[in-house]
Amino acid sequence: MPIPTENVGSLPRPARLQQAIADYDAGSISFEDLAAEQDAACKDSIERMEATGAPIVSDGEQRASSFATYPITDTLAGTGLADNLAADGQYFAIFDDGHHRQLPRLTGAPFRYKTFASDYLSKSIPYASGPMKQAVIAPSMLSLLYPLDEEVDGYPREQFLSDLCDEAERDIRQAFAAGAQRVSVDFTEGRLASKNDPRNPWTGRHMLQQFIELNNRVLDRFSAEERVNIGIHTCPGGDMDSVHSADVDYADLLPSMFGMNAGYFLIQLASERDKEYVYKLIGEHSREDANGVPQVCHIGVIDPLNPTVETPEQVAEDLVTAARHIPVERLGATDDCGFSPFSVDDKPKHGSPDFARDVAFQKIAARVQGVQIAGERLGV
Ligand SMILES: [Zn+2]
Repeated sequence: MPIPTENVGSLPRPARLQQAIADYDAGSISFEDLAAEQDAACKDSIERMEATGAPIVSDGEQRASSFATYPITDTLAGTGLADNLAADGQYFAIFDDGHHRQLPRLTGAPFRYKTFASDYLSKSIPYASGPMKQAVIAPSMLSLLYPLDEEVDGYPREQFLSDLCDEAERDIRQAFAAGAQRVSVDFTEGRLASKNDPRNPWTGRHMLQQFIELNNRVLDRFSAEERVNIGIHTCPGGDMDSVHSADVDYADLLPSMFGMNAGYFLIQLASERDKEYVYKLIGEHSREDANGVPQVCHIGVIDPLNPTVETPEQVAEDLVTAARHIPVERLGATDDCGFSPFSVDDKPKHGSPDFARDVAFQKIAARVQGVQIAGERLGV
């Protein structure tokens, strides 16, 4: 079997789509006008990703406000925000370049997704000629919608978490029902949970273990056969070409992270300073049997925040080195992160989102070619 490879999910939105989002927020165009731009961007994303030779593709999340907020708001500016949410929630993350992203705050019961990932996938799948994947947000991220310390009136935290798990399960099941071959769960808050950033109170609360238990409450509702195709993505963030938790040692995350009973993992690695150290950690802590499934570890071989395109040879070398520490039958390749997890992202190191899109497809092509070379060298 060839070395499996897949992207995380997102691509930069074209400049004209980002303009359409701004126009929609300003009330100067209709939702239908915005949807037409989203459709065009999804179609272009799928066609160009398929042209790289990638065995599985996504629609680049061109319809999503962000990887984390798609269930609850139509745009990042808050147009279409669900009724029982207020805009002034806690920071999701404060990035190294100083910019931040904020979550809404839950104000009442019940918590329900407005939009499921399958709503987007079912519109995009007719554009694809091969298999598609879908990324969904982890319940652990959305658990941060509930205020850290106070209780929401008439809606105890445990009832919220129970509703959240039901919605997260539905999100995954509906994505498969809509035709996704693989569903990966974005878990960027995992590494951030070990950061202890005094400006961002939740990061100092040692929440990693409760995040993992919450996500397992959802994963454990799926059979081993289903979990083969359910993944977890970890990264130090990737927005405006900046990160939020690259300074957290992977040793603080990976041993716990592999406690989640997922069948595969998409792990940022291309931009790590000491890759071999992380390969070793993965080899030591990933499990051959996670409640009935082997954990396949896709190492990041592409850095979406850096405009320099990796060569297929670099990709192959990373995989061959990783295979010294990770059993080759449980080794895969991915990009470090989505190329633009938030819809509004001008990709400053790239100069423009349109140029960043061109670079992204070149990078995906290098990954696909590098995986092939590594497969030949490793005899798989
Ligand atoms: Zn990521």
